[in-house]
Amino acid sequence: MRNKPMLTIIVPCYNEEEVLNETMQQLGLVLRGMKERSVIHEGSDLLFVDDGSRDKTWEIIAGAMAKHDYINGVKLSRNFGHQNALLAGMQAAEGRADCIISIDSDLQDDVGVIPDFVEKYRAGYEVVYGIRDERKTDTRFKRGSAHLFYSMMGKFGIHLVPDHADYRLLGSLALQEMNLFPENNIFLRGIVPLIGFKSDKVYYHRKERFAGESKYPLKKMLAFAADGLTSFSVAPIRLVTGLGALMFVIAIVIGIYTFIQHLSGTATTGWSSLMLSIWVIGGVQMISLGVVGEYIGRIYSEVKQRPRFIVEQNSYVGSEHIE
Ligand code: UDP
Ligand code: MG
Repeated sequence: MRNKPMLTIIVPCYNEEEVLNETMQQLGLVLRGMKERSVIHEGSDLLFVDDGSRDKTWEIIAGAMAKHDYINGVKLSRNFGHQNALLAGMQAAEGRADCIISIDSDLQDDVGVIPDFVEKYRAGYEVVYGIRDERKTDTRFKRGSAHLFYSMMGKFGIHLVPDHADYRLLGSLALQEMNLFPENNIFLRGIVPLIGFKSDKVYYHRKERFAGESKYPLKKMLAFAADGLTSFSVAPIRLVTGLGALMFVIAIVIGIYTFIQHLSGTATTGWSSLMLSIWVIGGVQMISLGVVGEYIGRIYSEVKQRPRFIVEQNSYVGSEHIE
């Protein structure tokens, strides 16, 4: 059994003024409960990462920091996206926390299982995945698209932990390794299984959003899926090559056929087949170019090595610093 750990619960927030007070209350209760039961270190805290919100999110965080010393905050200079906000929190907590738990701010993930995460950590697990045991509360569309996402990723050889989002515990060892992944288009739930270590799962019921609306509309979800795919697999490139080879074989067959027709003098004016081939080939080429371009785009954004997020304020250090 490990000693009681210094725990940091990392909460990314983007325009969450409607839920934040309730979230702080509920997480605060869980944290205090664990401190009273001597499960975690007295210095354990909640770390709210404001991902460039345009509403009162930061005011709420700042107000809470003034009132409670177990609340900390990191403010990003603009909206960098959920994954980067999480990363900012993880980097801020590195070196201080023995383990971190990341959780969404909208209370969809059951805060009641946090002690179970910590128990697993104390039992020696370095990575603990929070798994939704049902998705009844998600819309049918969201469930369907999530299912499609996992099966598609699986086909491309990317093995994610199904029904696990970003509700997870990482021990300091795992955290340190995670923070060493330098990629710009970071897809955390794909990376966590890659770093290894002893892992376990905690199951929970996923609830409705407490208030406010999803910050993941269809467009962002599709972008997320594309990120996940292209930053982990070269399968689409191989697919293009295969498709090209197939087209080549078909072209030879058609060529021979046309030549025979020509020799036998029965070549008819093949307007429709001509048009068809032009369009089919044109289409395939366009798609292929698009896929290749997608990768070039990724390479472009990676080689630039721009900072993944910029911190405006960090209550741990009390001054500005840039990643
Ligand atoms: N979030 C963020 N930056 C963004 C979008 C979302 O930090 O650009 C946070 C958001 O505040 C929430 C979490 O990421 O805590 C998950 O977002 P949301 O609940 O909107 O996604 P859903 O649960 O609908 O997939
Ligand atoms: Mg949500």
